[in-house]
Amino acid sequence: MHIHPKITPIYQTSVFKFEDLNELELYFGEPGSRYLYSRNGNPNSDELADAVNLLEGGAGAVATGSGMAAIFAAIMTYCASGDHVLCAADIYGGSSALLNQELSRLGVGVTYVPFEVLAEDLTPYLEPRTRLLLCETISNPLLRVVDLRGAAQACHTHGLKLVVDNTFATPVLTRPFDYEADLVLHSVTKYISGHSDVTAGVVVARAAEDAARLKQIGVLFGLTLSPMESWLAVRGLKTLRLRVEAHCRNAEAIAKFLKQQPTVQAVHYPGLPDHPQHLLAANQGRALFGGMLSFQLEDEAEVVNQFMRAVKRFPFAPSLAGVDSSLSYPLGTSHRSLTQQQQLELGIRVGLVRLSVGIEPINELLADLEQAFAK
Ligand SMILES: *Cc1c(COP(=O)(O)O)cnc(C)c1O
Repeated sequence: MHIHPKITPIYQTSVFKFEDLNELELYFGEPGSRYLYSRNGNPNSDELADAVNLLEGGAGAVATGSGMAAIFAAIMTYCASGDHVLCAADIYGGSSALLNQELSRLGVGVTYVPFEVLAEDLTPYLEPRTRLLLCETISNPLLRVVDLRGAAQACHTHGLKLVVDNTFATPVLTRPFDYEADLVLHSVTKYISGHSDVTAGVVVARAAEDAARLKQIGVLFGLTLSPMESWLAVRGLKTLRLRVEAHCRNAEAIAKFLKQQPTVQAVHYPGLPDHPQHLLAANQGRALFGGMLSFQLEDEAEVVNQFMRAVKRFPFAPSLAGVDSSLSYPLGTSHRSLTQQQQLELGIRVGLVRLSVGIEPINELLADLEQAFAK
């Protein structure tokens, strides 16, 4: 019987069989020719890693059980006890919590670098054992766009690696390796899988030796992604380009609509001409600006509550990047653990609301927002 499925089946197995000792030797002698044990490698997680590697233009990738596992794997690729990392001040809350609460315990120190100087001289932030800079292509929740070429140059002058969390941009907008980044990671949970039904991550390396390190870290720390999650992510990934283009179109229309609302004090979207990094975003993002935006209402919790209750197509669900729109509240969720001072510095205020714009018909989304603002 010859079965040739068009789509890779789900290899829901923890282990693989060998005919005899000769075949076991072939597993070790011809890497990639066979599978042994799913923590070490599985056709589904490899398919996901290879697909993202191809999109990002890397030398190899590893799929992980979450975006957080991807961040951990990326830092462990370059750091040992006694080392130090630089991290953009505008960063995913989980990344800073990992650095502050866990990696510090293992002797990896961190210094935060303000957005304005990421692509400038990093000397004032360096320590003798600084290894890398972690930043996001497009930050959350203010949608600041990092000059990746400038940041890579600033890093490489000092022998640091540039690690880019490309979750918000996706390779459809930006491929950080084009700008000399060293590692690129994603929360696959977001746009890569795209349907709010998977928790997963991936890290891609530009250099083959870093890819090998990543692979070992994935296997030995047991960061592996399951076959089922990998399969779902691969399926979602097939429509990434179409979805992202639709997310971008809708977000742009909503950003323009919000700009015209008298009760909206500010709209943060890289596609608006008055966004501080609009030109950079256009160049680095191939004239696409992403599906995320945030806006500032009056700094009154009750005003935010009224808006949340009034919108029907933007449920309050603190994640992002699904095909269905959603709304999040940075002060109460993603940036809750920051000090009040840090929140103030980053512009995370009581009235700040973030939208993850989905791919629904735009007239339906605009009509929903219109009736919410009319209230
Ligand atoms: C969600 C997110 C993460 C963490 O990913 P998980 O899949 O939730 O572990 C990391 N970085 C960014 C930018 C994210 O949005």
